[in-house]
Amino acid sequence: MKRVVVAARTFGKYSQDPVDLLKRHGFDVIRCEERDLPIALKEADALIVGTPKVTAEMLEGSKVRIIAKHGVGVDNIDLKTATRLGIPVTITQGANTEAVAELTIGFIFALARGLISAHLKLFQRREWSSVVGVEVKGKTLGLLGFGAIAREVNRRALCLGMRTITYDPYVPQDEMRKRGAEPVDFKELFKGSDFLSIHVPLSEETRHLVGETELKLMKRTAFLINTARGGIVDEGALAKALKEGWIAGAAVDVFEEEPPPEDSPLFDCDSLITTPHIGAHSIEAVYRMNMMAAQSVIDFFEGRVPANVINREVLK
Ligand code: NAD
Repeated sequence: MKRVVVAARTFGKYSQDPVDLLKRHGFDVIRCEERDLPIALKEADALIVGTPKVTAEMLEGSKVRIIAKHGVGVDNIDLKTATRLGIPVTITQGANTEAVAELTIGFIFALARGLISAHLKLFQRREWSSVVGVEVKGKTLGLLGFGAIAREVNRRALCLGMRTITYDPYVPQDEMRKRGAEPVDFKELFKGSDFLSIHVPLSEETRHLVGETELKLMKRTAFLINTARGGIVDEGALAKALKEGWIAGAAVDVFEEEPPPEDSPLFDCDSLITTPHIGAHSIEAVYRMNMMAAQSVIDFFEGRVPANVINREVLK
């Protein structure tokens, strides 16, 4: 029997279907916490993984033949080593696009109207204070990156009467205009946005792409939203920007270190909203990710090319 090690918080949590699917195809499903992954991988044929780190050392010491990422961002997986060892890595492309886009829109409203602080004042301190926010209609939303999630955010923002601007050097500008978003250069994106939402992958190119310089370009009334990856924003610079009022507020679903340390400077910022990396966590998205990841493993061992292999060179 082939062994699938699962290190993804939500795999099989809300529905047994993905576990049953694997079992029906003859797989033994072994759940695993991040700390136990190095040992569990030694005997695993396949890995379904969410955010835990998968290092070169772990892969070299394992007999894993396929990795199915439960999500789309693969910055936690040593892709170079996986490729060198001939291990295909699949992603659940498109499965959580809607969920992240909807969370982003939720953040826009929460920031615009101070929803979380108003709730906390009343709920925790019985404080009946007047919170006056801004309307989103007529405001400019900047999208850093114009991939799948950004496009869904763009579609929703246009329906809300927002204007959208975007910067993505890898997407043709016609494609942006066709979808109602105005292409701008990197600086203009920061200068011109009332809300700026990040939708790029974490890579060497995008690490600390948003730091002091960029935050200082933003309007003092603007809000920053990061539902992409922690390392893209310099957290020290963001904390400074919030404390010193360079920007009006921020919403952050992802952190450089997860969970963030208790003494993270971000926790001292009143104008910050945080969530514990829940962008992809809708019941619907989780189900789609679960089933796609399970299907990738099944397809591979049944001799079919799995969908969404990102290191396609290993297929040769
Ligand atoms: P995608 O690949 O469809 O889009 C990413 C876009 O970023 C691409 O269009 C690419 O051209 C662009 N890009 C790359 N480098 C850039 C740069 N330096 N400047 C500007 N644009 C750049 O990916 P997606 O599905 O839209 O997801 C985006 C990211 O969101 C993922 O990489 C992942 O890290 C993150 N994500 C987070 C959650 C969550 O739970 N919070 C869930 C899913 C995805």
